[in-house]
Amino acid sequence: MAVRKSTTSKAVPAPEKKAAPQKKAAPQKKVAPQKKSAPEKKGQRPAVRPDESAWTAVELRDIEHELRQDASRLAGELVAAEVGLADLIRDSGDGAGDDQADAGSKTFEREHEMSLANNARDMLQQVEHALGRLANGTYGACETCATPIGKGRLQAFPRATLCLSCKQAEER
Ligand SMILES: [Zn+2]
Repeated sequence: MAVRKSTTSKAVPAPEKKAAPQKKAAPQKKVAPQKKSAPEKKGQRPAVRPDESAWTAVELRDIEHELRQDASRLAGELVAAEVGLADLIRDSGDGAGDDQADAGSKTFEREHEMSLANNARDMLQQVEHALGRLANGTYGACETCATPIGKGRLQAFPRATLCLSCKQAEER
């Protein structure tokens, strides 16, 4: 009564790995039931000066692209400056044996690094502010006098929030 249970002959057929003539073409991005990414504000293009042509979608995309590039560059600079600053501050702890000149140059370095960080932070803020304005439809209008900043000026200086004359007045 050998109920030889054959454990071996039950051989599960090796998982056939063959049925793959179907190269899955890049996981099809489901044409998602569109989350409307920011309802397109048509007819909400930034104002231009009387002698300028209206903004085109491409021009606006370029502006946005440039601002985003600036933002990531500045964010990188900011991090680098902050790291540098942290290093300097840490190192200044063991400056016991420094003579005055060393101490002075360390202070200078620290101030320099700090001003780099502050600059990057300020500019990053301006860029983010401009992106915000681009998103909410206020881009292109002077924040002081509300007249159009001008396409030419914005293309040269995408994060501008003041028209040239207000900017000059501010600097005076
Ligand atoms: Zn103005």
